[in-house]
Amino acid sequence: MTTATETRRFEAEVEQVLKLVTHSLYSHKEIFLRELVSNASDALDKLRFEAIARPELAAGDTDLHVEIEFDKAARTLTLRDNGIGMSREEVIENIGTIARSGTRRFLESLTGDARKDTQLIGQFGVGFYSTFVVADQVTLVTRRADLEPEAAVRWSSNGTSDYALDTVTEARRGTTITLHLKPEEDEFLDGWKLRSLVGKYSDHIAFPIRMLKEQFGEEGEKAEPEIETINHASALWTRPKSELKDEDYAAFYKHSAHAYDEPLAWTHNRVEGNQSYTSLLYLPTQAPFDLAFSGRDERKGLKLYIRRVFIMDASEHLLPAYLRFVRGVVDSDDLPLNVSREILQENKLVAQIRSGLTKRTLDLLDSLAADQPEKYATFWGNFGALLKEGVAEDHGNRERIAKLLRFASTKGEGSAAKVSLDDYLARMVEGQDTIYYITADSFSAANGSPQIEALKARGVEVLLMGERIDEWMMGYLHEYAGKKLRNVAKGELDVSALGKVDEAEQQKADEAAKPVVERIKTLLGAKVKDVRASKRLTESASCVVVDEYDMAPHLKRMLKAAGQDMPDSAPALEVNPQHALVQRAANETDEDLARELAILLLEQAQLLEGAALEDPAGFVKRMNALIAK
Ligand code: ADP
Repeated sequence: MTTATETRRFEAEVEQVLKLVTHSLYSHKEIFLRELVSNASDALDKLRFEAIARPELAAGDTDLHVEIEFDKAARTLTLRDNGIGMSREEVIENIGTIARSGTRRFLESLTGDARKDTQLIGQFGVGFYSTFVVADQVTLVTRRADLEPEAAVRWSSNGTSDYALDTVTEARRGTTITLHLKPEEDEFLDGWKLRSLVGKYSDHIAFPIRMLKEQFGEEGEKAEPEIETINHASALWTRPKSELKDEDYAAFYKHSAHAYDEPLAWTHNRVEGNQSYTSLLYLPTQAPFDLAFSGRDERKGLKLYIRRVFIMDASEHLLPAYLRFVRGVVDSDDLPLNVSREILQENKLVAQIRSGLTKRTLDLLDSLAADQPEKYATFWGNFGALLKEGVAEDHGNRERIAKLLRFASTKGEGSAAKVSLDDYLARMVEGQDTIYYITADSFSAANGSPQIEALKARGVEVLLMGERIDEWMMGYLHEYAGKKLRNVAKGELDVSALGKVDEAEQQKADEAAKPVVERIKTLLGAKVKDVRASKRLTESASCVVVDEYDMAPHLKRMLKAAGQDMPDSAPALEVNPQHALVQRAANETDEDLARELAILLLEQAQLLEGAALEDPAGFVKRMNALIAK
């Protein structure tokens, strides 16, 4: 029975996705097969789950599996599963529209830059639509397990702007997808090729994937068709580690996490004891494009199975929020099959699993940091900010998490966050019992902050923190390995007991400062007695110094005001050779401008010292002229 065909336009976004997909996925078009098998496997998982409460859904057809067939003459490739199937509404929702918020965000994040878009699509994945890379016509017939045979749906499209929907009759539940291949895609009409693709991408699928066995009988002989299973067909995490290759783990990651990157690292464990469970946890290589959006409440990627049956994505119950980058599966032997989210929330076993998984994840990060620092740096670059939340959130593991933190530092390489607290401890100088750090709006602000100069001069390392979360995080981290942590931007800092000034370094700095100092001295001429490089200035550019035998300026001013005749001696000026204003004055090629800048340095110093300026009107004019420039 067939009703009148209804033709519907794809949602505008689908059209965009389709166009992008066909253009950008071309170089690895074979992934369509992996996508379809992965969807079929999910549908079988869902059926098995729904059948726990309603066994009649699977009745009469409990052999859950996927079939692949091809027909050279008709140029078609067909995949069939006896999974949950879809209702008409679900077909429209899942295949015709972009219901998933992720897709919408993906499109919003697209830029005009085509190359970037291709990369993005690789990160995002496109699932079902990848069929249109190789097919010019796709037909999907599906019947939801809980609906009548007469309520099956046929969806078909050539992947341009619209699709057709019919109501059809289908005795079997589940979904059949038929691809009519484009003329140049003959390779997918080949049994050997299909077997090898299944072996490469879908071997780990827990359900059997079946194909007709190729017959190589005597010519003219008609052999009985024979069906064979072409994948391993057991849940990957139940297999012994020794049997699994890196490729197997990587393929399973892509399927299970709907991921398109390679996994960075993983940890596969079986726990036996008062409760038993298996976990397989992955660290992604790439941050999902929408990491910023996939907030703490909307977490995904860790699937809960109970005795091999997929139950739900339960990331928020099985891991603390700060580990939300973890992907993978947990399979419990002891939880009841009918668990609900509410039960998960309160269950003692779940709480134990959660702390076990937290430990496993931190162990994995520890060993990555120790054995594969480059990979750890990748991880840190993508997810370090999330781990920082853990310092505040996970009191019990604070010290362990702190060990995993990485910072930029005055002894590091530029702005790269590569220094650990342990690196820092190993480099502490004589007399140092505190870990010094500074927080600012950015790395360069932290690095340029005058407060760290005195410490630097004494060889004391300062951690440079320029992320917004740092200030908040450090509010929870007061100690590490028995050493206090201290923000050098806050309060008075006495560094006199620390380390010693490095003579050689000092000499080098003096050498470098010489021409700057000479230049300023020439510019100021008789206005000053002397110009020197300062060893104490941090924040200010210059200050007036009083020589040991000179009268203190304030005293001189008092005597002068009382009518005493005081000789007008020119002051000595100290300048901070690193300061931007000093550098500018020294490097300015326009003589007049250079002199104005130098005079400003002197006047500022006098103002700071509390003196009245000789020529206040001139000062204001100079200032204004410079500001206006
Ligand atoms: P994704 O698998 O990433 O969600 P897809 O575009 O591949 O994206 O599929 C969209 C949705 O269509 C799936 O989430 C699922 O709900 C539904 N779907 C796809 N294939 C099947 C299938 N074989 N059986 C049942 N539902 C399916």
